[in-house]
Amino acid sequence: MKKVLLFLIIVFCLTISACGKDSSNSTVPETTHIHDFGEWSVTKKATCSAEGAKERTCACGEKETKTIPATGKHDYVGKVTKEATVTEEGVKTYTCSVCGDQYEEAIEKVPGNWEIGYYVDELGNKTSDAYVIGSFNGKFCNSATSFSDLTAFVYLDKSSTTTMFRLLEYGSYRASALSSDHIEINLEKEDGSTEIIKLKYSSSQGTFYSDDNKLKSLILNNASLTCVIMIFPKYGSSYDAYAFNIDNAGLKELYNQT
Ligand SMILES: [Zn+2]
Ligand SMILES: [Zn+2]
Repeated sequence: MKKVLLFLIIVFCLTISACGKDSSNSTVPETTHIHDFGEWSVTKKATCSAEGAKERTCACGEKETKTIPATGKHDYVGKVTKEATVTEEGVKTYTCSVCGDQYEEAIEKVPGNWEIGYYVDELGNKTSDAYVIGSFNGKFCNSATSFSDLTAFVYLDKSSTTTMFRLLEYGSYRASALSSDHIEINLEKEDGSTEIIKLKYSSSQGTFYSDDNKLKSLILNNASLTCVIMIFPKYGSSYDAYAFNIDNAGLKELYNQT
């Protein structure tokens, strides 16, 4: 009986204490605060090479920050750092105005008046025998016309002392001469000094030429020359004149390649 009573008392007490606990802890359990961040705002702008940063803030004051990756997009500004010439390529340097990153681009050689030509064999096939040919614009006068357009071609061959000219009136029609004509070329150098050299006419080739090595070396050794080819008929006072300037930029380099 005593044991049963004791048991009941214990159960009673436990019940009381449980109730007590319940009543002392009666507030609603706290719900977790969920941050409500606003829009991101950039605090440091990313550049081509540097990371940026952005942040957003909750009403409670909590901040979240994130890095913005570098864009990798450089802001290049191009500048010619070496002018191209007839003989050498130029260089254009691009520099990023933000980080200074650089790269270079080649500028093509300036086309010159001279180029390498190759002889053809009797079948019309190109051989390895080369010469240099220059083409120049000029003017010509004769009894029928004054200051009309002229295209003059100049041929130099390393294996010969000959200098050859082909003169195309209006860019198309070969100038010619009679075997009895007196033909000469007047050359004026940059320093103003002049030379006169006699020329011959080849009716088979339609070219004017000189075998005198002096003419060839004058062309090779002057940066530019003013040339006037004069054709004087044996009889009469009229004459034909073909005037053109030879610009020899790049000539020697090409000549040495043949
Ligand atoms: Zn918050
Ligand atoms: Zn950059």
